[in-house]
Formats: sequence, C-alpha cells, structure tokens
Amino acid sequence: MKALIYDKNFDAKIQLSQKEIPQILNPKDAIVEVTLSSICTSDLHIINGQVPRANNNIILGHEFVGRITAIGSDVKKLSIGDRVSANCETFCGECYFCKRGYINNCLNGGWELGCRIDGCQAEYVRVPYADQGLTKIPDNVTDKNALYVGDILSSGYFGAEMCEIKQGDTIAVIGSGPVGMCSMICARLMEAEKIIAIDINENRLNIAKQQKLADYYLNPKTCNIEQEVKKLTQNRGADGVIEAAGGVNVHCQQQNSLPQQGTFELAWKIARPNAIVGIVAMYEENQILPLPEMYGKNLTFKTGGVDAVHCKKLLQLISDGKINTDFLITQTYPLDNILEAYEYFKNNKNTCLKIAITK
Ligand SMILES: [Zn+2]
Ligand SMILES: [Zn+2]
Repeated sequence: MKALIYDKNFDAKIQLSQKEIPQILNPKDAIVEVTLSSICTSDLHIINGQVPRANNNIILGHEFVGRITAIGSDVKKLSIGDRVSANCETFCGECYFCKRGYINNCLNGGWELGCRIDGCQAEYVRVPYADQGLTKIPDNVTDKNALYVGDILSSGYFGAEMCEIKQGDTIAVIGSGPVGMCSMICARLMEAEKIIAIDINENRLNIAKQQKLADYYLNPKTCNIEQEVKKLTQNRGADGVIEAAGGVNVHCQQQNSLPQQGTFELAWKIARPNAIVGIVAMYEENQILPLPEMYGKNLTFKTGGVDAVHCKKLLQLISDGKINTDFLITQTYPLDNILEAYEYFKNNKNTCLKIAITK
C-alpha cells in the first residue's frame, strides 16, 4: 500500500513509499481502510524534530475516518464494514488514568498513531484498543463531517470544557486557527453569551466571522485587546479565556509602543478576577507566571493535551446538525499528492486551515 513515511535521515524527512498492509497484532486491534485523513500541525512538529516521543521510520498521521476491514478476537463493539472516526489518542480504557477520563495519560497509550506506531497517512492503518479509539459514525454523518472529531474538535471542546462555561458568560478565545475555531463552536454550545475571537491573522478572523463563530473579532495589531475586552465586559474582563494560540509575540497596538506580549500573558491579563484560563496551546518555550503581579486576581489555570473522551457525543451533535466543521477543510489532495499537500500546509497559513487527504 501507499504510505507517507517519516525518516529523519531523508533530506525531505518524508517520502511517499510502499509498505505492507498492516495485520492484526493484538486481539484488541482493528484494521481500518482510511477513506479521509488530514495533516496536523503536530505532524510538522515531528518532521521538525520537536517531538522526542516520535519514532523514526513510521507512517505519519493521526486524524482520520475510515472503514473497518478486520478486527481482533477481543474487539466487542465494532464489526467489519463499520464506518468509524478515530481518536488521535490510543488508550486502554482500564488503567488508573483511563478510568478517571484522563486518557491523554493512559499508562498503555497516549499519542501513538503516527508518532510511536504507524499512522493514517496511508491506505490502511492498524488501531490498537479499537473499542476505545474508534467510534461508529452515524449514517447521516459524512466522512468529511466526522474527520475532525478525534483530534481538533475534541481539543476545541476540551478548551471550552476547561473554562466551565455558564450561561451568559463572556469567553475570549485567543487563536482563530482550527482548534480555536472549534473552541468557539463548543463555547457557543455551552451557552456562552459573548464570544471574543482574537488573532493577528485577519484572514482567519474573517473566516470565523463568515461562519459566525464569535460575536467580536479583535486583532492585536489594530487594537488594544485588554482595553477592548474590558469595554465589552463592564470593565471586568472575560469570564473564561481559552488560549489556543501559543504565540510568543503578539504585536500590540503599534501606536503606543507596548512591549511585545506573548499569548500566555495576554490570556491571564484579559481574564476577570476568579476566571478560568484554559490552555490548549502548545508552547515552544517556557512562559512566565508573575505571581506578585497577579496576586489577588485569584485565577485558575488549566493546561493540557486533550483528553478526547467525548467523540461519541461530538458525533451525535454533528448528526443533530448542532456542529459542522466542514468549513475547516480549505484544500483537498489525494494521497498520491500528499507531499504537495504538506508543502501547501506549511507555507500558506493565510489560505489554509486544514487539508483533507483522500484515497
Ligand atoms: Zn493532531
Ligand atoms: Zn489507559
């Protein structure tokens, strides 16, 4: 079968080559024929050598939907022929952390597909703990509709969930990229009254605006975010802040020559006292928590890699017409042209949100 292989010894780091079709190795495995997959920023992190956990010479990719072609003897909830959406995380469902819903820290899994073991940018993929990691797609939900359930939509939901949103809340979302947009969608479902989208990329803010994902769209390049958020909240600040950018420098309003500010700092500054700051962003550098300055503000910070435990619920919301993430697919390439897709994804942040890879 065709597969996109990561090999740090290649000049280009990735190469489309031929691999054996995977087989069942464990009774809890399933083999899935990939019908639609995606490229994630995390794939680029592997290629750039920023993921120490990654194994060399594996097939990349962890975001996909497909059809089951084989199951191990211990797979109970799935059958051959089922259309399924895959969780980006592999988890056993039985260890200390899984039992508490903290599947990101499963003692027997974690980010395995397309990182430690062969992933989905191929014609077929082996999925361990298939009963946990694969969710049947309802009949009225297309592959395209379901593509992001197990990774970025789950991450967006996780961000909104961290903020414990109450009806009427004002929620600020820093980063209007795919995950930030999914957070806006989920914050709305959780009955946030005002959603404030913040990004330095005007195109991305415009897409959010076209999709009506937020109520206010603020660009730190053209306004003072702290002042604007205060204006919108009777001087209080946001009830919850979802940090989905992880940016080192947000260039503040040029005319008042404020120093460059990272998105982490912006996140706690625009939060009202006693707010929750939910951080889904992945930073490349340490961030500073200036405790003397924030003393008395009584903030709660939550951080993390997604515990993607709501796939079934998210698929139901899609089936019910309450969530639609199709607009995130800005380009589609066949697997044969996946190298070209990677190039586009890497170099076109303005016009590319997510790329779908077809068979
Ligand atoms: Zn991902
Ligand atoms: Zn586990």
